[in-house]
Amino acid sequence: TNDFRVENEPVYEYLESSQERKDLEAALTRLSSTTLEVPIMIGDQAYTTDRVQHQPMPHDHAKKVAKFYHATPELVQKAIDVALTARADWERVPLADKFNMWLKAADLMAGKYRQELNAATMLGQSKTVIQAEIDAAAELIDFLRFNAYYAQQAIKWQPVSPDKSSTLNSIRWRGLEGFVAAVSPFNFTAIGGNLAYTPAMMGNCVLWKPSDTAVLSNYIIYKIMREAGVPAGVVNFVPADGPDFGDTITQSPHFAALNFTGSVPTFNRLWTQVGNNLSKYRNFPRLVGECGGKNYHLVHSSADVTSVVNGTIRSAFEYCGQKCSACSRLYVPKSLWPQVKEGLVARQQELKVGDVREFDTFMGAVIDETAFTRITGYIERAKASSTLSIIAGGKYDKSKGFFVEPTIVQTSDPMDRIMKEEIFGPVLAVYVYPDADIDAIIKLVDDTTPYALTGAIFAQDQSWLETATEKLKNSAGNFYINDKSTGSVVAQQPFGGSRLSGTNDKAGGPQYALKWASAQAVKQTF
Ligand code: GLU
Repeated sequence: TNDFRVENEPVYEYLESSQERKDLEAALTRLSSTTLEVPIMIGDQAYTTDRVQHQPMPHDHAKKVAKFYHATPELVQKAIDVALTARADWERVPLADKFNMWLKAADLMAGKYRQELNAATMLGQSKTVIQAEIDAAAELIDFLRFNAYYAQQAIKWQPVSPDKSSTLNSIRWRGLEGFVAAVSPFNFTAIGGNLAYTPAMMGNCVLWKPSDTAVLSNYIIYKIMREAGVPAGVVNFVPADGPDFGDTITQSPHFAALNFTGSVPTFNRLWTQVGNNLSKYRNFPRLVGECGGKNYHLVHSSADVTSVVNGTIRSAFEYCGQKCSACSRLYVPKSLWPQVKEGLVARQQELKVGDVREFDTFMGAVIDETAFTRITGYIERAKASSTLSIIAGGKYDKSKGFFVEPTIVQTSDPMDRIMKEEIFGPVLAVYVYPDADIDAIIKLVDDTTPYALTGAIFAQDQSWLETATEKLKNSAGNFYINDKSTGSVVAQQPFGGSRLSGTNDKAGGPQYALKWASAQAVKQTF
């Protein structure tokens, strides 16, 4: 058979006057100058409804990059019917052929469509060039290639047949019986691709509800996958109002699985609906969720200050802190605070906030007005509170784009809301602790929030690192030692958290693809 190996896709730098930079600038100009019409795609039919929506550029919100439509509940139901019909043919396509389609799609994304996907992610989701490249190029391509590779490896395993002349044992991998729903977020284009297409690769037919604020880049993924050979109806592209979509899918007896990345309240609501409808289903649905965090950087008195400062600035403020993995609470010992504070404030002042089409921009705008209102609410509260003080940033302006300065807030209360709640924006909370309290602080870090997504500890003292690593083992699904809490790479740091951060099914890891298949053990006697 055609056994294959894969490697991580290189990250392009888009240096001035390089060909890749010219191609990207051309794609940016092209997508900036139009409002792309994005239909609902069910089977091979394009639909529009009277529920017209627009996707603005967050950094220039008068401009709309896409016009799209919310599906009615009837159209969501139609997508379910089409997915169930398409499933029969799709299941008959051998897995090896599916893997080939996924590898082909990855090559299309790595070459012909790289700049278009990056430009759509930059304009629609306000990512800088490097943040788009590590997402809509490198990570998306890696998801496609590595999931195919891991699935290929996994299905090679076959059970023992002690006496082959009388008995043959085997395992057969089937798609889940029913349809899979993928509900994806705005903050990573790659996550949308992974959520919808990994279940599809394993033989399922999928309803994909993209985020309203990532429709453009997600629709481009859909089209590339079709070009790579994925038949109509395998993935149905169904932008919709969240509750309409959720109600319709969870009421269907054929609901087989949910692949979700989004907020805790939404995942809770869907899980509750699944519970309420359980007696209707043919199967117990599989629920996979990644739901955010309140991620920490914990600094020990032996830490290297430069790496603390650089790692924290990047983790807290790259992509405006809108990564689930972003550092949003920093714990610093009093002995290091003067240096750390000086470093953070100096670095904060260098960060350019603005239009992501300018290549030296560090941070674009936050995703939309709802986010802007939530984030600036935390800033206003910090201004008004006597236990909080803003040590850098604090300004914001939504007249042209939803811009918020990278903001650092010091608190004298380690249990203040700003240390507990997910802000999902460029606001970093800092608590300075007495050096002697370090043991209590480790416990505090573990107990302050209900989340356990990412965390980082910084120290040169090896024995402290070992102790802290052990004590914090349940505090994060992705744990970093002397490195920032963001930037997981497919196949290098499989990503996901536990507690309220999710089901920890590790996107980019070897078990992920099998989550979307159902094993049948077959014993044949002769
Ligand atoms: N995998 C990303 C990282 O490590 C975060 C993914 C997310 O925001 O959901 O930064």
